[in-house]
Amino acid sequence: MPSSTESRAASTATATDATPSWVKDSVSKMERELGAKYGDSQRARLQRGLRQVAEFWRADDGDAATFEDFVRANFAGEQVTLDTMFNRLESLLEQLSGHVHEINREFRQQSDLDLGPVLPFDEIIGGYDPSAHVLDDFFQNKLAFVVLLNFPLTTLDQRLQNGPSWTRRQWAEARLAQGFSKRIPADVNLGIAQAGAQASQYIADYNIWMYHLVDGQGQRLFPPKMRLLSHWNLRDEIKADYADSSSGLTKQRMIQQVMERIVTQTIPALVINNPAFDWNPFTNDVSAAAVKDSDTTTAPAAKPNNAREPDTRYATLQKDFFASKKADPYSPTATTLIARRFDEDREIPEARVRAMLEQVLTSPQVPQMAKLIELRLKRPLEPFDVWYSGFRPGSQYTEAQLDEMVAKKYPTAQAYQQDIPNLLMKLGFSPERAQYVANNIVVDPARGSGHAMGAEMHAEKAHLRTRVEKGGMNYKGYNIAVHEMGHNVEQTFSLNDIDHTLLKGVPNTAFTEALAFVFQGHDLELLGLPAPDARSQSEKTLNDFWGTYEIAGVALVDMAVWHWMYDHPRATPKELNAATVQISKDVWNQYYAPVFRQKDVVLLGIYSHMIDSFLYLPDYPIGHMIAFQIEEQMKKAGSIGPEFERMAKMGDVTPDLWMEHATGKPVGPEALLEATQGALAAVGHH
Ligand SMILES: [Zn+2]
Repeated sequence: MPSSTESRAASTATATDATPSWVKDSVSKMERELGAKYGDSQRARLQRGLRQVAEFWRADDGDAATFEDFVRANFAGEQVTLDTMFNRLESLLEQLSGHVHEINREFRQQSDLDLGPVLPFDEIIGGYDPSAHVLDDFFQNKLAFVVLLNFPLTTLDQRLQNGPSWTRRQWAEARLAQGFSKRIPADVNLGIAQAGAQASQYIADYNIWMYHLVDGQGQRLFPPKMRLLSHWNLRDEIKADYADSSSGLTKQRMIQQVMERIVTQTIPALVINNPAFDWNPFTNDVSAAAVKDSDTTTAPAAKPNNAREPDTRYATLQKDFFASKKADPYSPTATTLIARRFDEDREIPEARVRAMLEQVLTSPQVPQMAKLIELRLKRPLEPFDVWYSGFRPGSQYTEAQLDEMVAKKYPTAQAYQQDIPNLLMKLGFSPERAQYVANNIVVDPARGSGHAMGAEMHAEKAHLRTRVEKGGMNYKGYNIAVHEMGHNVEQTFSLNDIDHTLLKGVPNTAFTEALAFVFQGHDLELLGLPAPDARSQSEKTLNDFWGTYEIAGVALVDMAVWHWMYDHPRATPKELNAATVQISKDVWNQYYAPVFRQKDVVLLGIYSHMIDSFLYLPDYPIGHMIAFQIEEQMKKAGSIGPEFERMAKMGDVTPDLWMEHATGKPVGPEALLEATQGALAAVGHH
């Protein structure tokens, strides 16, 4: 790993530059005045509140007299006033998010549900977000300053150090203040949204026309019209090609070559999303397409040439960085995008995330897995085998048999709705709890594959959106419905059965996904069929481990690249290209080359989310680890129902605190590694 670590303190231009010059004097004055009024017991709170308000106050919020009057009127110097303020804010903010969410859900109804044609105006309505300006409004009318004056802003360090001994009320106060921990100007937020949208657009149009890839003999390995989006479809084609015993390997090697040219930006610009040219990705020769397989109008006929894509990939990534960096001065408790991702979104320090990833990457399970895969492939590993897809749970039933059973049981969405209490009882919930949860779930017919939409306030219900075909639900739809039902059950407990609505939910999406996967993993039993056998479960575990191993390296690349950008804010896209290529090679050489026995591979840099998702990739490997921890705890507990409810009621505290409450241990890879060791032993002799 390149050692580009500490850039957190690099942000020198803080929001205080915009602080009016009189603020310091007014703060001292109010400290004396209110300190005398409320006494020593309130002094520390008062100082903290004044500091927090001063940090965010701007000239157009008012002059010194306005500031002082505001503080005089709104500092809750007595416990009873503070309690009233806290309770009222908690309840009113629940009303706000609850009703805004309700509006959002209704406005998206036509797009989300299977209710007939979507007209263009439905999309406008569906895209409208009534909460978009709430934070601005609350700084403008000074409600945000009321919160900042009375409740503590915290750093991740404080939440980790002190959080375990906080009361639930202290946690709720911390979350309340966090909602106002940054005051990012609208134009900065707009810039971030625009950079994100541009990056998504760049990614969404990045297709490779596979029929136009030719090898040295001019042969086309892929079928006409096949158009694969980078990188997801390219990767999935690599996975699918394992089943093609005649030309799978040749295809996989060619796709690897394509991916590498995208990462290094030696891909000819003309061949991106363009079926008008044939391309040999090995020699990089480009020629006019000798065959036509598309009606798509192509770019104005350019002369075939292999002028490379001019670092557009990295220019796009850099725009994300420039836009994000503009928010740094307005986020005093997390002054870089890196800090905001780890300290605020994930709430696991970056150093710990890195250590967990390295623990997986350097685990003794890796060489054992590599050996097992080579045994199954009957050849040495090649770099694209990071996407090896041969670990598959077997099933005693064909998809058609399952489809038939499901369609019979659930001819309509209502049939599924009615069966929910029964399904929950099979998962170990008491009849009373099963009925209670079922009463809080509404099943809707989805337009897409299905999703779960929780509520944001007590009076509202969670929605399970599921797809039901004309002949009844099919197995795939059912499998997804069981997953989404897991989300709904979590959403119900973590909203309705929690002591503070400011703590509703879970620490982050990995937790609700893990809980949903627990349900999904029992879908066959819920149909009255036997559970997947041990062999099947082992295969699934090995598949998950190999996926975690692959994405852990990708996450390290994503992290190192963001550090590099912060360390080199004036770099050119070309320099960022060179740096990303080097980082990808370094991570590969350290953690993959030992088992792949090939050096300087750049494949880890291919992920599209690296370009459009602002340091999101580390969420994937952490999600796998969390899923295994929760699964292991469920096995230990024996019955899912009560354990699920106990876990889900912890709410939105730090991931480590949540996990310690749930399993007795902080977030970590041990459960995944142990399960993998067990699975390796179980399948080792097959
Ligand atoms: Zn899910």
